[in-house]
Amino acid sequence: MKTPIVSVLGALLLSAAPMLPATGLAVAAPAATTRSPDAIAADLAAKALASDLPMQIVTDLTTEIGPRLAGTEAEKRAADWAVARLKALGFDSVRQESFTITGWLRGEEKAEITGPAPQPLVVTALGTSVATPPEGIEAEVVVFKRYADLLAAPEGSLEGKIALVTEKTVRAQDGSGYGAAGLIRRAGASEAAKRGAVAYLLRSLGTHDHRFPHTGSQVYAEGAPKIPAAAISPPDAEQIERLVARGHTVKVKLKLTPSHPGTVTSQNIIAEVKGREKPDEIILIGAHLDSWDQGTGAIDDGAGVAVVTTAAKLIRDLPQRPKRTIRVVLFGAEEYGLLGAKAYAEAHKAEMGKHILATEADFGQGPVYAFNTRVADPKHPSIVRIQNALTPLGIYRGDNAAHGGPDIGPMMQHGVPVVNLALEGSDYFDTHHTPDDTIDRIERKRLNQTAAAYTVFAYLAAELDGDYRQARVADAPNTASGN
Ligand code: ZN
Ligand code: ZN
Repeated sequence: MKTPIVSVLGALLLSAAPMLPATGLAVAAPAATTRSPDAIAADLAAKALASDLPMQIVTDLTTEIGPRLAGTEAEKRAADWAVARLKALGFDSVRQESFTITGWLRGEEKAEITGPAPQPLVVTALGTSVATPPEGIEAEVVVFKRYADLLAAPEGSLEGKIALVTEKTVRAQDGSGYGAAGLIRRAGASEAAKRGAVAYLLRSLGTHDHRFPHTGSQVYAEGAPKIPAAAISPPDAEQIERLVARGHTVKVKLKLTPSHPGTVTSQNIIAEVKGREKPDEIILIGAHLDSWDQGTGAIDDGAGVAVVTTAAKLIRDLPQRPKRTIRVVLFGAEEYGLLGAKAYAEAHKAEMGKHILATEADFGQGPVYAFNTRVADPKHPSIVRIQNALTPLGIYRGDNAAHGGPDIGPMMQHGVPVVNLALEGSDYFDTHHTPDDTIDRIERKRLNQTAAAYTVFAYLAAELDGDYRQARVADAPNTASGN
């Protein structure tokens, strides 16, 4: 630690800098060249903790744009909003990179128990689900309390039935409960269809007991019939479990009318703080701009957009930029299967070797509690210095098995070293992918600590020397923070 006097002086010079006339002579250069990167990082953390910018960005995005379903006019409006905002904040090389995806639009969604005790169910279609016939599907429900039980069911055993998996999602700080349950949503419909089911329901992948169902993407397996797939709220799943446990044959009627607009366009947004010495070397901090459509995508992932934008902005405003370039990427179409991330890795294949470290903020508002890496040498002196700068924020040194975040996975496959600033996720799956994902969930203090952690990381990663390659190139990331 430097002496307090130096820190205070530095803070005064830094805070005075924006008020100096733009002559090019008045920049507080002496302070910038004499102060250590570690001291500058501490100043940046203090600024982030006090900044209004994170709340402003997530509030503006969720208020002015609202939901941002991939490939829709709303996502495009968000992209144009982001470009204008990033330009206004003074970033370099702000641009959109378009790619095409297969579109999907939610329609009407309705479910009810028709016997023995008629009552409405709260339901939502999974992304990419096909529609039911216009009159709906009415059939007997077969309940599986474990996903493994569905997988163990013989072929043909669900002929004409609706399969319902009611396995619970376990609350965990790092989201591993969701990671473990993810396949129930992603792959369950085709597993049920292979066994003859006419529709697939699951207990929402969520950790609460309110009646908001959670949407999310699913993928039809090749060769399996495509059947409608939807999530019901936890209390609704338990109601059906109770009826079945009492020996009743439960019948459910399901009506979904999603549509498939064909090939549509999404886009990644890129903005940079160009490095002063090694501008071609990149520290990538990402988030995703698209969201599901029921809420306004505040925790998923407006918070991440706010955090990485604030981090880069605070660094951009330093009297002296760091050595390497900081690249902010706001990915499109994450929710439909990391489509923006795949498009980015493909479009930037030639410069993957210049991506020094990459990470994403896509697990809500934080706070950050651990620093995980996936680098060749987890005891590298620069990694140690980054950790030392994070420790005062209440962040411990985690493991060397980071996945970087959902959108970082495709880059990791190209050998890009990654880190995770592990975000507190105990309550993330209470509102994730529900109508309850709104700005009301965001707490300024949590968001600002997260912004501080990303700022410290991005600055030091860009300023300190280090080659972190030869990292283990992993298997596909565990999308704990998932799409
Ligand atoms: Zn997300
Ligand atoms: Zn999501």
